[in-house]
Amino acid sequence: MSAPVFRFAPSPTGHLHLGHALSALLNFQEAERVGGRFLLRIEDIDLTRCKPEFEESIYEDLEWLGINWESPVRRQSDHFEEYAAELSRLEAEHLLYASYETRADLARLITGRDPEGGPRYSRDEGFSPEEAAEREAAGEPYALRLDMEQALSRVETPLFWTEVDKQVEAHPERWGDVVLGRKQMPASYHLAAVLDDALQGVTHVVRGKDLFESTAVHRLLQELLGLPAPTYRHHHLLVDESGKNYPSATRRPHCAICAKAA
Ligand code: GLU
Repeated sequence: MSAPVFRFAPSPTGHLHLGHALSALLNFQEAERVGGRFLLRIEDIDLTRCKPEFEESIYEDLEWLGINWESPVRRQSDHFEEYAAELSRLEAEHLLYASYETRADLARLITGRDPEGGPRYSRDEGFSPEEAAEREAAGEPYALRLDMEQALSRVETPLFWTEVDKQVEAHPERWGDVVLGRKQMPASYHLAAVLDDALQGVTHVVRGKDLFESTAVHRLLQELLGLPAPTYRHHHLLVDESGKNYPSATRRPHCAICAKAA
């Protein structure tokens, strides 16, 4: 049997915070414990928010934590063509459509909320087909959304995922018609993460509880694209005394715990 494969997949949109350090260490230590592999993946599809200096600081901080990873590191920004190819596949299967609403339009039109509190998009609340056609003709930017109802009709439901040793029922419909790509960016976190986990042979996804609900979308995409499903473990988040706030991104010398160790 081949070795289990773990990964830590930060987005270089800022410095790592303590929650990231916890995630990275849990993955790395578990990989060591079971004789598995540990991969680092840079999730930098958002070219406006991701910065080379943050990527550099991720490498430095992980090294400082005593973590080592396999080379080469997969950087998602090097693989847009692969994500675009999978998007085209879904499009050819009539599972995607373009939606032209801006953020302000969404705030005005959409009443439902997704598990993260964002707009839970449903087609009947969005622009009418005529309005969408006008925007299309004007060459306006769009989001490529998954037709959730269609998608769910193509897979066996209910879907489940393995959370450590339990089966959890997945409810992707709670996200509405999720965005899988954009005019300017032929990928989304959901699509790229799912494809890369499969491509890199990841068997164990260990990440924060903030991504627990996203796993439902990931399971659906795995089924639609014929990809294997890893085992998941969503670990607790590090919060302050109020129990509400996440630690802010801070570099080692300023971080209370690290400063003690330094
Ligand atoms: N890139 C994501 C983040 O930094 C994590 C993705 C994942 O672990 O699936 O929040």
